[in-house]
Amino acid sequence: MVVNMREEEMEKKIFKGRIKVPYKHTAGPYVEKFITEIGKKNKIWGVRCPKCKKVVVPPKMICFECFEKMEEWVEVGPQGTLEGFTVVTHETPVMPLKPPFAYGIIKLDGADTGFVHVIKEGDPEKLKVGMRVGAVFKEKPRKRILDIEYFKPI
Ligand SMILES: [Zn+2]
Repeated sequence: MVVNMREEEMEKKIFKGRIKVPYKHTAGPYVEKFITEIGKKNKIWGVRCPKCKKVVVPPKMICFECFEKMEEWVEVGPQGTLEGFTVVTHETPVMPLKPPFAYGIIKLDGADTGFVHVIKEGDPEKLKVGMRVGAVFKEKPRKRILDIEYFKPI
C-alpha cells in the first residue's frame, strides 16, 4: 500500500540531543615551543619573516603575506598596546574567566601582529584602545595558552 501525505499533513517531531565529541590535536613545533617558553621562563616569542621582516605572534611557520618560511625567533612583550577589545558580561560554559573581563587584541612590544588574549583587573569599562597592558603569568603553568593567565592595564 502506498500512502501519499502532503508535508503539511505530516506530524512534525523534533528530537533534541547533544553530541559530545572529545578531541585532541597536535600543536605543532612552533606552538609547542611558544607555549613551553611561556610556561618555563615567562617569555613570549614570535618569529620574523625573512622577506617582509614582520614579527608574528603567536609564531607561525609560514608568513601569511609572503609565504616565506619563518625561522628567526624573536622575544617580544611581555607588555604591549591594546589595539581593540570587547567586554564580556554574560557567562557561558567555555569562558576562560568569570565575567566581567575583556577579550583584547594586543600588539606586544616588538611584534607586528595582534595577539588575542583576555584582559582582567580593574573596570573593563575603563579600557581604551591605545592603553598599555602587561602579561600576568600563571604561577603553576600547565602548558596551555592560559599560562599567560591574563593581561592587565599598566
Ligand atoms: Zn613576510
